[in-house]
Amino acid sequence: MAEISRLPGPVADIWEWQLDGSCRDADPTLFFHPEGERGPARRNRDAAAQAVCASCPVMQMCREHALKVREPYGVWGGLTEDDREAIYAGERRRSLRVAS
Ligand code: SF4
Repeated sequence: MAEISRLPGPVADIWEWQLDGSCRDADPTLFFHPEGERGPARRNRDAAAQAVCASCPVMQMCREHALKVREPYGVWGGLTEDDREAIYAGERRRSLRVAS
């Protein structure tokens, strides 16, 4: 008999928080940059997406998800791609300090 305790939980339970996200009614292009977007255009779009996240009732769950699965693209939980990269870099530095 299969050991089902090691299987992931029901999909609906894992993803249900997304149903309450404030971005469900927002323009999806606000959260993901188009190819080649740089500079002020990117900063302004990211800031507009982060403003939506700021009042989102599931921001913490969204942020935890994005960091856990290392979402490579978009604004999640109020964090831009660069914000998440900075967090990962900090984690790498701390783990290197602990290992040495
Ligand atoms: S925190 Fe931002 S990206 Fe996450 S669900 Fe809420 S509005 Fe959407």
